[in-house]
Amino acid sequence: MVREFDLTPKRVPRVETAFRRIVTEFVVPESIPILQKLQEYEPVAMRGQPPVVWDRAEGFQVYDAWGNRWIDWSSGVLIANAGHGRKEIADAIARQAGARLLTNYCFPSEIRARLVERLATLLPEPLKKVFLLTTGSETVECAIKLCRTHGARSGSRTKNVIVSYDKSFHGRTLGSQQAGGIPALKEWIGNLDPGFVQIPFPDGFRTADNSFEGFERALREHNVQPRDVAGVILETYQGGSAAFAPAEYMQALRRWCTTHDALLVCDEVQAGFGRTGTLWGFEHYGVVPDLALFGKGMASSLPISAVAGRPDVMDLHPAGSMTSTHTGNPVCCAAALASIDLVVTEDLAGNARRMGAVLHERLRALQSRFPQIGSVDGKGLVAGIACVAPGTQAPDGDLAWELVERCVQKGVLMFSPVGFGGGTVKISPPLVIHEAAIRESLAVLEEAFGEIVRQRAVAA
Ligand code: PMP
Repeated sequence: MVREFDLTPKRVPRVETAFRRIVTEFVVPESIPILQKLQEYEPVAMRGQPPVVWDRAEGFQVYDAWGNRWIDWSSGVLIANAGHGRKEIADAIARQAGARLLTNYCFPSEIRARLVERLATLLPEPLKKVFLLTTGSETVECAIKLCRTHGARSGSRTKNVIVSYDKSFHGRTLGSQQAGGIPALKEWIGNLDPGFVQIPFPDGFRTADNSFEGFERALREHNVQPRDVAGVILETYQGGSAAFAPAEYMQALRRWCTTHDALLVCDEVQAGFGRTGTLWGFEHYGVVPDLALFGKGMASSLPISAVAGRPDVMDLHPAGSMTSTHTGNPVCCAAALASIDLVVTEDLAGNARRMGAVLHERLRALQSRFPQIGSVDGKGLVAGIACVAPGTQAPDGDLAWELVERCVQKGVLMFSPVGFGGGTVKISPPLVIHEAAIRESLAVLEEAFGEIVRQRAVAA
């Protein structure tokens, strides 16, 4: 179902704390001409987020131009890992811009050399070669290309199947959308490539069998021979639910891929750079993929992404045949280097782990009080609350939507619900958030939940 927020201004209770400030009507009347201009000149598909007109964002807070201030539970969309508007990042961008090197295509530059070295040094063996791109979708396209090239080089013309997971999201370009596991998003494609196969993700909630036998069984059901699999790609945790696979499953998958000479690809576009309480999300599984894909939180700001991989795989394509116009743009590289420095030196993975413990404990307590919460998933500073019809696994998109709307009106900014049936409320603050702000925003969530449930009870 496609939804939009109501733009009619209505009175909301005033909020004033150290972290939040809601002083005007919601939607702010002065913001309506801006919202209307966007509606006039942008495609309808760009609508759907809460109508908060961002003016400035710092640390874990977002401000509009009319005196309102939110605790940010979105990080944009998991971008601002090192915090919004960090001075160190802004200064690095300004320095690079001041040095008058704003672009250099694939010509060598020192700053690109520094960034690929930095990433390769931080990553474990064998992820020692890095290709810089601009968006997450591009890294997925590149991974598909590398998996199929690797498969073709193995001598078998049929080794081209890309296995991925139901309910997964890997981007909106032709290949990344087909790797995704949300059928409605692929309706526009029409002639789907039969070499993309999706199987159930062992999420511990909607998939009953989380054993690795389920993987092999699913391949048989799709009539896929293991020798024909070029690669298996998964989000390190599923973006639509924040669910991780069991570590044993991933370790068995790692062995299976090695045995069948298929590449294991972890799409870390959401999970990388400290988000889950470890620098890389795949660390939770005790495995290392053949390719790891990064984006979003890599620069906490400007668009830059990366494919990191086994050198023999990364070198499959000859000189000049795997390039991109904006690869390693010097200003984006400067932002990424500064952001990575902050994530590492401030141990933001550690902060995500510690704050995540507070977050997840309170969310589990909330789940025990409200049967409308079917599951709580995630690690570190990412969480997904699956809203359901009590006692079932049926998603309750209305509840999720109302929860987000109320939280935003109370000064906690979230993006619209995601996941199966639009029923998941996702929590992903910048990793610099501290305990008082986490606790305050959780109290807002609890208050909003209680209000909705009480109102529904009265209406019933
Ligand atoms: N992979 C994952 C796991 C994602 O969450 C996203 C974006 N939500 C993408 C890929 C696509 O990234 P982009 O929007 O930068 O193309």
